[in-house]
Amino acid sequence: MNAADTLPAVRGKLTAKAPLAPLVWFKSGGPADWLFEPKDAEDLAEFLRDLDPAVPVMALGLGSNLIVRDGGFPGVVVRLGKAFAKVDALDATTLRCGGGASGILVSSTARDASIAGMEFLRSIPGTVGGFVRMNGGAYGGEVKDILIDCDVVLRSGEHRTLRLPDLGYTYRHSELPEGAVVIGATFRGRPGKAQAIQAEMDRISASREASQPLRSKTGGSTFKNPDGHKAWQLVDEAGCRGFAIGGAQVSEKHTNFLINTGDATSADIEALGEEVRVPGEDGTVQGMLDLMGLKYTHSGLVTSVIAIDKELTKQALVPHGIPMPTGTMVDSESLFTVDPLPRPYVLKPVNEGSSVGVAIVRDDSNYGNPIAREAVGPWQEFDRLLAEPFIKGRELTVAVLGDTALAVTELRVKSGFYDYDAKYTDGLTEHVCPADVPDDVAQRMKDLALQSHRLLGCKGASRSDFRWDDEHGLAGIFLLEVNTQPGMTPLSLVPEQGRAVGMDYAELVERIVGEALT
Ligand SMILES: Cc1cc2nc3c(=O)[nH]c(=O)nc-3n(C[C@H](O)[C@H](O)[C@H](O)COP(=O)(O)OP(=O)(O)OC[C@H]3O[C@@H](n4cnc5c(N)ncnc54)[C@H](O)[C@@H]3O)c2cc1C
Repeated sequence: MNAADTLPAVRGKLTAKAPLAPLVWFKSGGPADWLFEPKDAEDLAEFLRDLDPAVPVMALGLGSNLIVRDGGFPGVVVRLGKAFAKVDALDATTLRCGGGASGILVSSTARDASIAGMEFLRSIPGTVGGFVRMNGGAYGGEVKDILIDCDVVLRSGEHRTLRLPDLGYTYRHSELPEGAVVIGATFRGRPGKAQAIQAEMDRISASREASQPLRSKTGGSTFKNPDGHKAWQLVDEAGCRGFAIGGAQVSEKHTNFLINTGDATSADIEALGEEVRVPGEDGTVQGMLDLMGLKYTHSGLVTSVIAIDKELTKQALVPHGIPMPTGTMVDSESLFTVDPLPRPYVLKPVNEGSSVGVAIVRDDSNYGNPIAREAVGPWQEFDRLLAEPFIKGRELTVAVLGDTALAVTELRVKSGFYDYDAKYTDGLTEHVCPADVPDDVAQRMKDLALQSHRLLGCKGASRSDFRWDDEHGLAGIFLLEVNTQPGMTPLSLVPEQGRAVGMDYAELVERIVGEALT
């Protein structure tokens, strides 16, 4: 059927069964039932007003934050063209930007008008509509800091001007009404000097170039940073760097980016994201392999089930004298009334494999006091959580292979220039191996790691994570958890400790496989 027969008449361009893959960064996914490129705001408003309200409508910018499913989009995709891509300086600090204008155009117009504070948009590959919708941000700035208001056409075809409070901004999220199309926005910066603004834009571009796969087919950062953690680092430590499903791969350059290496389907990309998110160390895979009669490396079903559950781990280890933080189980609902422990304390799901979902509730935390129901945290996902006192101090880890504790590594987050932006910059962790700690502390940690490995019945390699409050000597050592599937890329902690004791990667792998085959 011809789209023009079933849809309102337009002055712009309406295309039926329009391929969306070429229009999005991932270059995957199916077609839109219709792609509408309005001639101007009136064309858009009239079209939406006359369109059957049951037809879904979605705006598309540069497609840098979208996975289009392989089945395509069952409705109308609205794409803003040239008529919406203008940027004008209104006064010494204010820009009026079309909804289809790119971040590069906005930031360079700001520079030409000597308006500072919009440099961060230089590095985000999207349009004003996408930035407003996503509260786009990087390098310490985000849209909520510069937005005065935006003009939208609602799904009903009605024009509206929304002011900053109407958008309910939180981290990379807005409450823009469903189906609304942002056709323009007013951004306000501060007076600056063109040269300094350009220098800041150059710095941002160079930093991006160094750390992100910018010329790949990608959707940018995939996972939000859990409180106190960097998503890229957790993905890396889970051994997922370079991991692939079909044509989709975890970027080697930046592990929070998924990339389409060539012919990935959107299903590949989604499956990869899920695979990275759901850990393979909870015993499920081990149980399946047991049933299939296949041998596998590392720990078996029972050990995996116990080690992944922080409460069960404590029950198995604490009676044997392994020092672990005293925890208490709480109903998430109770957190909205009263704190279970004096602050600071840690809340974590009992059986999540990585540190995803861990919240450190500090006096100055932005979770509220008591914790606010709408604050983003593990209480929104889990009915019950483990609450533990926050142990201040240094983060150390010990790998055990067979019957030997290899070494002690200290994990130090490199401070300095790149650290202030939580999501999009590297903030690399420095591994100090052997850790610079007193001999008796190192020995005690190795003993505890080996004892825990044995008590839990671990096989192959395990990695025990500790906190050490160095003001309290040996009494300041606490085991946090035992990882039964520690990262095994050549850059991960276990291979690094292997090298520290003279064992190269091949030998390490051989030993682990050898143990699995016996
Ligand atoms: C290499 C790379 C790096 C990135 N770095 C960052 C970063 O540092 N910071 C950051 O915040 N993001 C980053 N992103 C993600 C992405 O660029 C941003 O989310 C950007 O705001 C998306 O803009 P877009 O116009 O491409 O929107 P799209 O990806 O096309 O759409 C994203 C969402 O916005 C909606 N939308 C788009 N246009 C409109 C409109 N006119 N009206 C209403 N809704 C609209 C869409 O419906 C969709 O829900 C990165 C992406 C890539 C690929």
